[in-house]
Amino acid sequence: MSIDFSFTPELEELRDRVHAFVDEVIRPTEVELEEAEGSQRLDTLISLRKQAHKAGIWLPHMPEEWGGMDLGHVELAMVQAEAARSYYGPWVFNCQAPDEGNMHTLLHWATDSQKERYLRPLCDGRTWSCFAMTEPEVAGSDPTLIRTTGYQDGEEWVINGHKWFISNAHRASFAILIVRTEDDPDLPQAANTAFLVDLPHDGWNEVRQIETMHGSTGHSEILLEDLRLHESQMLGGRGQGHLLGQYRLGPARLAHCMRWIAQAEMALDMMVARSLERFSHGSVLAEKQGIQWMIADSTMELYQSKLMVLHAAYKIDRGEDFKSEVSMAKHFVANSLNRIIDRSIQVHGALGYSTDTPLAHMYQHARWARFADGADEIHQMRIAQRTIAAYKDHGSTAAATGGLPI
Ligand SMILES: Cc1cc2nc3c(=O)[nH]c(=O)nc-3n(C[C@H](O)[C@H](O)[C@H](O)COP(=O)(O)OP(=O)(O)OC[C@H]3O[C@@H](n4cnc5c(N)ncnc54)[C@H](O)[C@@H]3O)c2cc1C
Repeated sequence: MSIDFSFTPELEELRDRVHAFVDEVIRPTEVELEEAEGSQRLDTLISLRKQAHKAGIWLPHMPEEWGGMDLGHVELAMVQAEAARSYYGPWVFNCQAPDEGNMHTLLHWATDSQKERYLRPLCDGRTWSCFAMTEPEVAGSDPTLIRTTGYQDGEEWVINGHKWFISNAHRASFAILIVRTEDDPDLPQAANTAFLVDLPHDGWNEVRQIETMHGSTGHSEILLEDLRLHESQMLGGRGQGHLLGQYRLGPARLAHCMRWIAQAEMALDMMVARSLERFSHGSVLAEKQGIQWMIADSTMELYQSKLMVLHAAYKIDRGEDFKSEVSMAKHFVANSLNRIIDRSIQVHGALGYSTDTPLAHMYQHARWARFADGADEIHQMRIAQRTIAAYKDHGSTAAATGGLPI
């Protein structure tokens, strides 16, 4: 077994180009993007996207035939981690959630005509999309509880229900909507079906954009009232909604981790920079053991995060089962991200609590990472189940710890 995470000179050159684009083109417009409103913000973003497209940094996660860069997952980890050094990087390169996960889903599950109609414009950057699964009334952690229901009326499906926290819904041209269609499935996981919904649409009613701890950020609450869809709008087969969601979440969770690593690294860079310049009790903070422990713990966690993400990406690239590695990476990186930003705020003192640095904003954003796309405890439950199964099957837990040669 050999694992080689070194890149070819071409990929190193790509890394430099993405790095330079983020520093020289995106970062100088961040303040303008933060302060701009409505269409002005969109115009700036579109202008940045055009420049990125021209520079050949576009859709790093998609195959060439869809206008993408045809990268493997290890290579993608490098591009995503470079891109996410700016909050807007993934948006500019058209590899942001939830569009990025929806593109994978459409590529795998859509019919040819659905691909031309929905995937093509999404890849071209002409549309946005959303993914509508979570409901306020039931635990999002258990999709077998979904209550939004569809029944068949001739060639149409009639859908009623309630969704919330649907990111991007207010600007999306279409949604992938998860609906309960089967009354009595053989397996509880086979009750749901996915549909494509053109937006806006009769019966798709936005109640509000939910105010969150980091402001009102485009996560919508939606009431579905006699929404009628032609049967050709079904994505995948009847009862395959859960499978489709799981398929979508694997690479999408890992892509989140790739972007979180960039944020964690930024927080650690800031922690060290501040500790080198702040003076107290006879020396700079960097010379205090208490501060060094925070730096060391963060460094070790970031190192572990990178290895876990690269290894999970390597397994995806090799076509090996990656569920467990992605689960462990998602849990570990999400928690490391929160801890590292928290330590960086601690080292910055009052400045870290202010909005004069990006840390406060990063902290507010990071909190959702521990429960969205699989809460910590759900991942822990699955990891434990796999570890126990490995022991029962092989008399050893080794297979559950990455299948590594030691
Ligand atoms: C910023 C943001 C964006 C989002 N975007 C989208 C989106 O675009 N589309 C979409 O469909 N959803 C979206 N969501 C929703 C997200 O996917 C859900 O929050 C997530 O699936 C958890 O579901 P829930 O909130 O209903 O929590 P619940 O399922 O109610 O869980 C609450 C807590 O209970 C605990 N818990 C639950 N089950 C178990 C268990 N079996 N064992 C132990 N503990 C358990 C966990 O601690 C968990 O955090 C978004 C959420 C946020 C915050």
